[in-house]
Amino acid sequence: MLDLAIIGGGPAGLTAGLYATRGGLDNVVMYEKGMPGGQITQSSEIENYPGVTGDITGMDLMIPWPEQCQKFGLKHDMVEVKKVELLDDGTFNIHRGDGKVDQALSVVVGTGSTPKFVGFAGENEYFGRGVSTCATCDGFFYKGKDVSVIGGGDTALEEALYLAKICKKVYLVHRRDTFRASPATVERIKNTENIELILNSSPKEVYGDAMGVTGLKVTTADGERDIDAPGCFIFVGRNINNEVLLKDDGSFICDLNDQGEVIVNLSMKTSVPGLFATGDMRIEAPKQVVSAAGDGAVAGIQAIHYVDKKLNS
Ligand code: FAD
Ligand code: NAP
Repeated sequence: MLDLAIIGGGPAGLTAGLYATRGGLDNVVMYEKGMPGGQITQSSEIENYPGVTGDITGMDLMIPWPEQCQKFGLKHDMVEVKKVELLDDGTFNIHRGDGKVDQALSVVVGTGSTPKFVGFAGENEYFGRGVSTCATCDGFFYKGKDVSVIGGGDTALEEALYLAKICKKVYLVHRRDTFRASPATVERIKNTENIELILNSSPKEVYGDAMGVTGLKVTTADGERDIDAPGCFIFVGRNINNEVLLKDDGSFICDLNDQGEVIVNLSMKTSVPGLFATGDMRIEAPKQVVSAAGDGAVAGIQAIHYVDKKLNS
């Protein structure tokens, strides 16, 4: 029986692991389906994590975190979790992607979020062949070339700025004429010469040939416009990864809000004793590395109290 199962190895899960193991829990496993680090490893720059200054990428930031946790005894299983099941005695079964089932006294879920797609023609067909959701991963392929970027949030604008340093020209396509990104970032966009704003416009079709994307057709306020660009980067928000909390009957094991975010209190406790939710997947998440890490610390400490009580009752 595990003291604590942590689902997800982003900033929230890793920090929960650090605090739980360093605080005395012995048998703690973090399940991560990919490489630990989470979505911030896709970011080309991070300048708002306290104490971190200079030109560092999200990957640079996250590289030391797993090793720090392992030093205190956190075990890491590179496996996807399919389902967290609540048993009658209040413990949890962790259904793993490899078919095995582990049992845990407590669970911290920090499965974060994944990129949304818009749904225009060619988007799926050309994904990985010109359509991308990661500028750090794919931006270099368009060195000296033109690209389009879709979205008006912090991610779209920050990644447009990153791409503008590599690419010849960046066409920023946004469906409104105001941005939800932070004002400072909007200002930087407006002051970047090789970024052209295409506002009140929506992507209609990405097209290409056997080699990949050659252009994007957008619907504008005046009709249609073709953007000749071999790269099309989509940053239109993210979906909450709450599937591990789904029961076979389609309901969830704990309370969620209408957006699929897990309802927690200030101790990251969900409606189920012993189950904690952290980071981007919880209600009112600021969706920041620093807050995800903060949630993980809170949940790790709370899990220690919960397990202590459970073992001594
Ligand atoms: P995530 O980072 O999403 O980590 C969740 C982890 O869980 C992932 O590694 C995933 O593989 C794993 N996982 C999911 N489902 C399962 C499963 N079933 N089984 C096993 N593992 C699973 N924040 C800032 O503070 N500053 C920034 O400058 C900034 N820039 C950003 C730029 C980009 C391009 C993006 C996408 C985000 C940015 N953010 C930034 C937001 C920040 O990355 C997130 O708020 C933060 O990573 C959330 O951490 P998390 O641990 O909650 O989730
Ligand atoms: P977001 O804030 O939800 O923005 C999504 C953008 O995509 C919006 O501009 C939205 O347009 C647009 N959009 C959504 N659906 C669309 C569609 N179907 N077609 C066309 N456009 C569409 O998502 P995000 O930028 O990924 O940011 C997510 C969270 O992470 C935010 O809380 C953000 O602040 C945070 N984050 C922070 C930083 C940072 O602190 N430096 C960096 C990155 C992300 P509308 O505006 O019209 O709705």
